[in-house]
Amino acid sequence: MIQDIAPHVLRNEYMKDEKPGAESEVYVFDGRRLLAGGEGEKIHLPLYGDFPEGTEAVFLFRFDGKARFLLGREEELPIPEGYAFAELKALRASGKTPREFVFAAWTALQLARWYGDNRYCGSCGMRTIFGTIERSLICPHCGRVIYPRIIPAVIVGVTNGDEIVLTRYAGRDIPYYALVAGFTEIGESLEGTVRREVMEEVGLKVKNIRYYKSQPWAIVDDLLAGFYCDLDGDSTIRRDDGELKEASWVRREDVVLQPDDYSLTNEMMRMFKEGKEPR
Ligand SMILES: [Zn+2]
Repeated sequence: MIQDIAPHVLRNEYMKDEKPGAESEVYVFDGRRLLAGGEGEKIHLPLYGDFPEGTEAVFLFRFDGKARFLLGREEELPIPEGYAFAELKALRASGKTPREFVFAAWTALQLARWYGDNRYCGSCGMRTIFGTIERSLICPHCGRVIYPRIIPAVIVGVTNGDEIVLTRYAGRDIPYYALVAGFTEIGESLEGTVRREVMEEVGLKVKNIRYYKSQPWAIVDDLLAGFYCDLDGDSTIRRDDGELKEASWVRREDVVLQPDDYSLTNEMMRMFKEGKEPR
């Protein structure tokens, strides 16, 4: 999966005293485009020293022991020579960008978006300031403390013996198959989300819900939790046409996997294909 980057290590904890040096690698975004140099195996981030002295830098995380920072949170920066903005989606799709580079960039983008979206307090509209002891933004007027936002969602492998429900989403330009999936509602447990989403999307009752693994999916601020479950009763699929353009029972040997192994969805489909899902 995308987060499986060993031997590389990304450590997310907030380090309040980290300051950038000229050699510190930095992230600069324009929407979902990342400033990078080189390509393929040679792709690399710009360095803090490539930008004007005194440029604001926000600590993001440590990668292989070295702190990385976000630049350009407020201001447009001059682009250093040899660098250009590249779509993160395209970097992933190329299949040539190292996984650890893509994963770290996604994580950086999620943090960048959170910092950007919370420059003003949602309660009183005042300008927020950086928290000093943890990753937070604080409203100096009403005292509101804002923490990074993560949206839980589930991925569900609905199985019936040697068959699993595969889906394709409507209105999205994604050619390959996926599993039932959906966001957790306020006041709902993850298991409750599994039961509700399966019923809403494909009209099936399920039992024996069992947890598999989780995955940070930064591109939409998600934390995905993967579950398998068994069909309970009638196997007739009643598809939600608004959400899905296809949903059907597929035998293990007929499961077609996604083009890369980044997603939890793909790993769960592969485990089922190989007969290795938790029973
Ligand atoms: Zn406020």
